[in-house]
Amino acid sequence: MILKILELGPLMVNCYIVADEETKEAAVFDPSGEVDKILQALNHDGLKVKYIINTHTHWDHVGGNYQLQEATNAPIVTHEDEASALKTARDNAATFGLSCENSEAGMFVKEGDIIEVGSLRFKVVDLRGHSPAGLGFIFDGEISVEGKRETKKLIICGDAVFAGSIGRTDFPGGNMELLLQNIREKIFTLPDDTLILPGHGPASTVEREKKYNPFFQ
Ligand SMILES: [Zn+2]
Ligand SMILES: [Zn+2]
Repeated sequence: MILKILELGPLMVNCYIVADEETKEAAVFDPSGEVDKILQALNHDGLKVKYIINTHTHWDHVGGNYQLQEATNAPIVTHEDEASALKTARDNAATFGLSCENSEAGMFVKEGDIIEVGSLRFKVVDLRGHSPAGLGFIFDGEISVEGKRETKKLIICGDAVFAGSIGRTDFPGGNMELLLQNIREKIFTLPDDTLILPGHGPASTVEREKKYNPFFQ
């Protein structure tokens, strides 16, 4: 699997591009803005976008949805209970004095579903607690990051857990107890060396967060 990490938009959201090296089929997780940079990264490797995936639909994570869809025709994928916020993203961003286009989901996924991108398979888990129905996507296999190859498991987890922190729970749909429980049950049960790819900030591992994340001590 090809993995590219771009930090984009006014709130520096991690946009993850994953792709099958053979078929060049790709998925873009959380296109948060600066779509020209996303398209440049896709074109560089001749990648074709099959899905635009939102881990959740806070406006800072979906700012590039509309433009990326215009450019690629790929459906926007998220949980059904996240979809309505896509239609109010413009107003939500405006309350922060920032701009964002509205967009519309074309496909819903939920816990237990498998998303296929070429030969890659991503298992969907429900990590709600930071938002109404935030999702995580687990991949198990060979990853190539900037030419370096390793075999490992990873989870793209949106704003559920960060290196040394967890997502805010004071937005609508937030629930701290539920978020902590979901992280414990669905992320901390993965192998220790599983790579955690969060919505903001540096990557981490399951082992590091279990040991050092202050919310779990
Ligand atoms: Zn968020
Ligand atoms: Zn965020």
